[in-house]
This record gives sequence, C-alpha cells and structure tokens, in this order.
Amino acid sequence: MTGNNDKYYKILGVSKNASQDDVKKAYKKAAIKTHPDKGGDPEKFKELGQAYEVLSDPKKREIYDQFGEEGLMNEGPGGHPHQQDPFDIFAHFFNRGPRETRERRGKDVAYPLKVSLEDLYNGTTRNLAVSRNRICTKCKGKGSKAGASSTTCGGCQGSGRKVTTRRLGPSMVQQMQECCNECNGAGRTLRAQDRCQQCKGEKVVAEKKSLEVNVEKGMRSGQKITFRGEADEAPGTITGDIVIVVQQKEHPKFKREGDDLIFEHTLSLKEALCGFQFKLKHLDGRQLLIKSEPGQVVKPDQHKAINDEGMPIYSNGFTKGKLYVHFIVEFPNSLNPELCKGLEAVLPSGSGSSQLSDKELDDCEETTLHDVNMEDEMRRKKAKKSQQAYEEEDKEHEHVHGGVPQCAQQ
Ligand SMILES: [Zn+2]
Ligand SMILES: [Zn+2]
Repeated sequence: MTGNNDKYYKILGVSKNASQDDVKKAYKKAAIKTHPDKGGDPEKFKELGQAYEVLSDPKKREIYDQFGEEGLMNEGPGGHPHQQDPFDIFAHFFNRGPRETRERRGKDVAYPLKVSLEDLYNGTTRNLAVSRNRICTKCKGKGSKAGASSTTCGGCQGSGRKVTTRRLGPSMVQQMQECCNECNGAGRTLRAQDRCQQCKGEKVVAEKKSLEVNVEKGMRSGQKITFRGEADEAPGTITGDIVIVVQQKEHPKFKREGDDLIFEHTLSLKEALCGFQFKLKHLDGRQLLIKSEPGQVVKPDQHKAINDEGMPIYSNGFTKGKLYVHFIVEFPNSLNPELCKGLEAVLPSGSGSSQLSDKELDDCEETTLHDVNMEDEMRRKKAKKSQQAYEEEDKEHEHVHGGVPQCAQQ
C-alpha cells in the first residue's frame, strides 16, 4: 500500500482493523480534549474531525485504505474530501452544540390571524390552539428507556447513509447515496424494547397549547406578534418562534390608509347644494352626526376631514388619525323644464353664461348632443391608432426593400 493511508488512524490512535465503535470511542476521547473551547489546538481539532469523518464512513474508509487521501479527492463536490465543519461533526456526535452560536436553530412557524377593522380599532384578545413538538419529559429527549443505549445502525454501519447501486447498462453501474431509512441518517438505532414508551423513541411528543394573542389597538395588517420558543422543540436545537401575522379583513364601509380612515358617502344633488346631515356608526359603535354648515356646498368627489376620528395610533393609544369623508354627488338624469326656471332664479350664473343675442344665434350652425361612454370611445380610438402604426411600419419596410438595390446598381 502507499504510505499515506495510515495518517487518519494515527490521528485517532487506533489500529487499521479498529471497529466502528473503536473509532467512535477514540474520537470521543480525543475530541473532548482537543476542542478549542477547552483550550485545544484548532488545527488538531480539525484534523481529528477529518479523520473521524472518513473512518466512521465505511465507504470512505474503504477508499482511504486503498488510495489514501488522494482517493477521497473525487468523493466530495468540488474535489474536496472534507466538506464537513469539524464543529458540526463534533456537534452531531454529541448531539448538542458545543458553542451557543453553533447550535442549530429550529424553524419559525407563522400563523395568519384574520381580524376585523373593528378588532384593530378596539383591540382584542384571541385564543389560538396550536400543536407543536416538545422534548419528551420521560426520556428528556434521548428516545431510550433509562439505562438503555443506542447501537450502531445495522442498515448503514453508523454512517447514516446507504449506498445503492443501479445497473444502467451491461457495463455501467450508477452509485447513489441516500439517507439511511432505518435510522433516518442518525447512524444509531434503538432496539424496540429499549425505546421510551412515552415518545416511542421519537424524542419529542406533540403537545396542544392555546396561545393568548393580544391584538393591540392600532395594529396593522401584516404586523407580527412573536411567541419566542413556542415552535417545535428538537434535541440539540434552539427552538424557533411561533409568529402570528395579523391580517385585516376588508371592511364594507371603512377603508384604512395608515392611521386614517376613509368613509364614502353619497349625497343627492339637493343635499350637496342645500345641506345635509347623516348618522355614521363608528368602529366602536358610537354614532357620529355628520352635517354641513348652513349655505355650504359640497362638490362631486370632494373630501372633508374629521380630526381624531381615525385609527388609534399603535403604541400610543391616546392619539388617533383622521376620518376622511369622501363625497359622491348623484345628479338627476333630467329636470322638468318648468321647474328649472325656479332653479335659475336661485343659482348663481357663474362664468359660462347661456344667454346669446339674436345676432350671435344667426351666425351659428345648430348641433345635436348624443350620449356617449367616453371610456369606450377612447378604447376604440387607441385600437385604431395601433393598427395604423402597424400598417405604416409595413410600408416603411417595403420602401427600404424597393429602394436600396436600385442605388447599388448605379
Ligand atoms: Zn421519551
Ligand atoms: Zn442507518
């Protein structure tokens, strides 16, 4: 054999025919001693991780025994044999993070919470039932009965991976590595009788919990309420959060715009000209009286504001935004010409005078006004324009084709 295939054995201090358990024991002893957190040499710790990574994997060990480190160059992606962080190897081995920052963090779980605009105006409390995994209290997350210990998985010899071969043709074989289905990649299994009865060896149990969600006054759609560490627990993992995302249901009457509210109200032309009053039921049930000042005229699409009747401002429940009233004015379709005389008497004549002299009338041609839908008219116009542009472009092309060859001949 080539001389460079015994380095890893020397690092771990085991013989070439050491068993998987010998390799594990050797790594465990050495890793605790050389861990940088315990004042060990980081370079030595790294080498130890490399040696363990190779020798604890039967496939890699076989390659290493035959071809040394060079043989493993073709194994990992990018031609590097050692892909794993030595700290991750250590953490995986001891099933816990050696350093706080190196610990894996579990996933956060988001739940949408639909609330009404009234809920966001007044504030509310909701109870949300969630189901999440907790570390089994009986085995404290070990998965085994007291005193029982796991054994190296027979399916993968402790590597956590299984190599399967598939015949693609008479002389072609594809090798694939997949996660071991017997131990779920952990490399170790428990005999059925050694499993914790409470969690059936799963290390965690599903638990239902009711979360009290406090929706505060003025919260907005999309705002998050976080319950730290309430997501699924798993051994060796920092538990993630349950995040409640507030979602406002659409309101039939009010629209929210930041801290302001917009309310649309339709007036008849008579009300717009001569005055109006109406009741508005607010989001907390109060009735607001909204009325015009005497002699005040409201124009179509006009907005008016009422101060301090908008949304409560989040984290400052005493101040509120504005309530905007958006007025729609409904005009009558026709009027009795006789009654118009009365209107003419009270309405101001304004800038567009309708009075033309006989002389002016004689100089004019008569016309008729037809009802149109201006949006339709514009759409038709646009379609026609693009059709024309297309045809013109075609003509230009013809011109180029017809003109250039003639010039070239001269
Ligand atoms: Zn258990
Ligand atoms: Zn396995």
